[in-house]
Amino acid sequence: MNQRQLFLRHVAQTSDAPLALEIVKAKGMQMEDVNGKKYLDLIAGISVCNIGHCHPKVVKAISRQAGLYQHLMVYGELVQSPQVEYASLLASQLPSSLNCVYFTNSGAEATEAAMKLAKRATGRTNIIAFNQSYHGTTQGALSLMGDEYWRNAFRPLLPGVLHADYNDFGMLDLVDQHTAAVFIEPIQAERGVIAPQKKWLTALRKRCKEQGALLVVDEIQTGFGRTGELWGFANYKLVPDIILLGKALGGGQPLGALVANRQLLQLFASGPVLGHITTFGGHPVSCAAGLAAFKVLLKEKYHREVKEKERLFRVLLQHPAIKEVRSAGLLIAVEFADFATNKKIIDACIDKGLFTDWFLFAPQCMRIAPPLIITKNQVRKAAKLILQVLDEVHKYA
Ligand code: PLP
Repeated sequence: MNQRQLFLRHVAQTSDAPLALEIVKAKGMQMEDVNGKKYLDLIAGISVCNIGHCHPKVVKAISRQAGLYQHLMVYGELVQSPQVEYASLLASQLPSSLNCVYFTNSGAEATEAAMKLAKRATGRTNIIAFNQSYHGTTQGALSLMGDEYWRNAFRPLLPGVLHADYNDFGMLDLVDQHTAAVFIEPIQAERGVIAPQKKWLTALRKRCKEQGALLVVDEIQTGFGRTGELWGFANYKLVPDIILLGKALGGGQPLGALVANRQLLQLFASGPVLGHITTFGGHPVSCAAGLAAFKVLLKEKYHREVKEKERLFRVLLQHPAIKEVRSAGLLIAVEFADFATNKKIIDACIDKGLFTDWFLFAPQCMRIAPPLIITKNQVRKAAKLILQVLDEVHKYA
């Protein structure tokens, strides 16, 4: 049996039609399959590989740390320099109130921990999330998910979770003295890249403050330069009470985090002690990798080039088959008539060596969220291939 057959037999599947491409190496913007075919990566492992695959500085940091020490003890008991250095660097790049980091294993675990922290801090029971939001698929995070299709099979979910419409001024009244927190993405990525109205987000920030509810901003997909700012919330000139990090945080290794004020996070240390505890959260190898990747991003300032590359994609991606292009930096949704059309286009792109996919709540939209290191020539090449595919698909539609 070959690897693909063993994969289908012994590795649990999450869909009935996995891509099942066998990638044997990945470097920079490129992935290579078992047959030597190369793919230009347009999705960066879903906004993970922001500085590309296997950056030499990240590889070096991983092997150095792997040889020094790996797992020593559950989170929080020992001084581990990759955690300390990374937390300090993150704090230096955030507003002064966001000065303390709790590292987790994943984005979903950061969501879980933030839900608990909000309840513990406010003594309140309710959490507000948005329709078509995505914060992970563990039980608590799934309770926040804004789509009944994805939630329903796993009921009962958490009580006290209220769903509201994004960009709806009417929802502000839902935030009241029972609200522990409002969880929000600064861009609704999986809805097909929907941005908040600045006025609405400002009003939501104000309403949370007035009512004593915490504003939790999920930067798991938008952080680390994806939108052209280091953090998605920086586009709206507001300061959250808690931010959630994941994906690019680990530089390709598994890592999540919540960042808040030290006083707030200190609540996990008492009443009860060990308020959130995790064996592998903040793994030293993951922290070393993430730290190295973040240093590269800050030094090379790839996020500063994001808007220009976004504009280039937008200028080039013009075709009668495209209904709309929505974007927030290098998080781009290209909308087609329906999922069937999109799937045909995506499959043809993969065939031509362009790796892309769709969005969870917007299957009619193609995802373009490449590593931020993509060059302008690679943007042109990708757009040209997409347009070629569109001509072919359009002709036979
Ligand atoms: N929040 C957002 C906005 C995400 O995009 C994701 C993952 O796609 C998560 C949370 C969950 O992160 P993880 O898959 O690491 O649990």
